Amino acid sequence: MVGSVSRSMARSVRRAGVLAVVVLLLAGSAAAQAPIEYRVSFPAPAHHWAQIEVSFSGLPNAPLHARMSRSSPGRYAVHEFAKNVYDVHAFDGAGRELVPSRPDPSAWDVEGHDGMVRITYKIYGNTVDGTYLAIDTTHAHVNMPATFMWARGLEDRAVRLQIVPPPALGWTPATQLFPTSDPWTFTAPNMQYLMDSPIELSAQAIRTFTVRNPDGRELAIRAAVHHDATNADVDAYAAAVEKIVREEGAIYGEFPDYETGRYTFLADYVPWGGGDGMEHRNSTVVSSATSLRAGPARVLSTVAHEFFHGWNVERIRPASLEPFDFTRANISGELWLAEGFTQYYGGLVMQRTGLAPLDATVRTIGSTVNAVLTDPGRLLNSAVDMSRLAPFSDAATSIDRTNLSNTFISYYTYGSAIALALDLSLRERSGGRISLDDYMRAMWRKHGKPGGPQPGLVANPYTLRDARATLAEVAGDRTFADGFFDMYIEGREVADYARLLQPAGIILRKRHPGAAWLGPVTLDPAGRVTSLVQPNTPAIEAGFDQDDVITSADGKRIGGGTTLESIVRAHKPGDRLTIAFTHPDGTQASGIVTLAEDPSVEAVTVESTGAAPTDAQKAFRTAWLGSKLP
Ligand SMILES: [Zn+2]
Repeated sequence: MVGSVSRSMARSVRRAGVLAVVVLLLAGSAAAQAPIEYRVSFPAPAHHWAQIEVSFSGLPNAPLHARMSRSSPGRYAVHEFAKNVYDVHAFDGAGRELVPSRPDPSAWDVEGHDGMVRITYKIYGNTVDGTYLAIDTTHAHVNMPATFMWARGLEDRAVRLQIVPPPALGWTPATQLFPTSDPWTFTAPNMQYLMDSPIELSAQAIRTFTVRNPDGRELAIRAAVHHDATNADVDAYAAAVEKIVREEGAIYGEFPDYETGRYTFLADYVPWGGGDGMEHRNSTVVSSATSLRAGPARVLSTVAHEFFHGWNVERIRPASLEPFDFTRANISGELWLAEGFTQYYGGLVMQRTGLAPLDATVRTIGSTVNAVLTDPGRLLNSAVDMSRLAPFSDAATSIDRTNLSNTFISYYTYGSAIALALDLSLRERSGGRISLDDYMRAMWRKHGKPGGPQPGLVANPYTLRDARATLAEVAGDRTFADGFFDMYIEGREVADYARLLQPAGIILRKRHPGAAWLGPVTLDPAGRVTSLVQPNTPAIEAGFDQDDVITSADGKRIGGGTTLESIVRAHKPGDRLTIAFTHPDGTQASGIVTLAEDPSVEAVTVESTGAAPTDAQKAFRTAWLGSKLP
């Protein structure tokens, strides 16, 4: 139990709608409580550690429960961030050292203090992405839950954070934290906002442009880019970012009211970076080992995805993630919408801006639909179920082997396929009057735009039932909304994509019509099966599985140019063949399979088949894939 005041307050706002009262209460209590003071310095960046000091004052006469987070918003697996903490010391207000007890691996309980506790520790970090901490001689890339201790019961206190940069490296700070008159000191109104506010310290390039909302408020959009390219490369990147930002603004008709008046892309495009994107309220981390010297093309789809999250998930937020619990894995059945719809719009916006060619967009549509049609996970789990598996799949590591490849389809892929089906269905049934853009705007008006009692909190997060009800309103048809949710979101059926894509002049067809198929079985050069055998494929009939060695198929020995694939390819669907194999214990066995027709599909434009799109198809494409900017 977290017992956080912010959690109970967020709930009471939701229930009673007493927003004004809560704001007053919060303002009153925050003023009465001393802010939590952090200081972070980097005495030895080459050795990848930071020195942290955190001071809690005005404490009640009770033990202080300090802890490291075990999860980070937007990453759903448990990460034991405490593992990189060392050299921990605690002191009271008089400077007397206190010895913390350790009730669990992430916690330090400090008793016997005098109303103030100062904790100092070192923390190691050398992983550049959206989840961890990375310190080297070129930068400090700080994800907050991976770096800073916090204290139970003090989640609503304001925070002051002072950064001490290493001398002579030319670093500047970029973060969504609130600035102060001192360029190295920042504030956050509460712990949720602090933990959501990564910091990049480096000799980074800054590019800024402004957007204006219909209410006249100007917002700054800033790209803070740690890179190994030229100024011209960064200019080209920033120009593409601006295109994406404006196109996404056109979907909602306005930008979120970024609380600090600006939104920041914290970009790390350095060869030692990991490929990642991590959304936050007023910023995002986008990282890639791809240099901007090669042009921005390969990093932009992540930009398009993450910026869309500023609406969808940061503000249009599932109730299952609000407020985020830093002590455990957070489970959400709505990631097909939070991540999957964002994935769909990332690709759609790349197309609408002209930053992606039509053929690439259509290819992605084909592979997305193919995954949902053919991956075995759908036999067991709906898109809601898949979302709830995120803690086991999203950057989760385990030593034991799993069969997730047979039970799980990424909620990015699955949700993106659902978004495609819903967009095309709404357009089909309304003659083009209503689209998924209308649905996202409706979700924004109800759940995102109302804001929260404080920056970092969302007052009106949505449930699955809300998402369904909003579809009924937008479509003007409760039966359609219930059918769509029952079949494709909470059920395991697949929409008729071939019919839905036809008005856009896109053909969904068999990728290898007439080709014999055993299933996706991969072998290493010694014939050892490296993949799990899928339950919905002919291969399962033979009786072999991962780690068995296939010795022959159809009487032909595997090896020396004869592969399992080449043997299968020489057959027709319906043919039976015997496969012989050896189990890891040396036992030999064989089984007979009946080959099927390769079920995989692809999407292509009518143009690629030699036909021409009709005027109606051209008009459909313009409405769907064309820019929404005036
Ligand atoms: Zn995402």
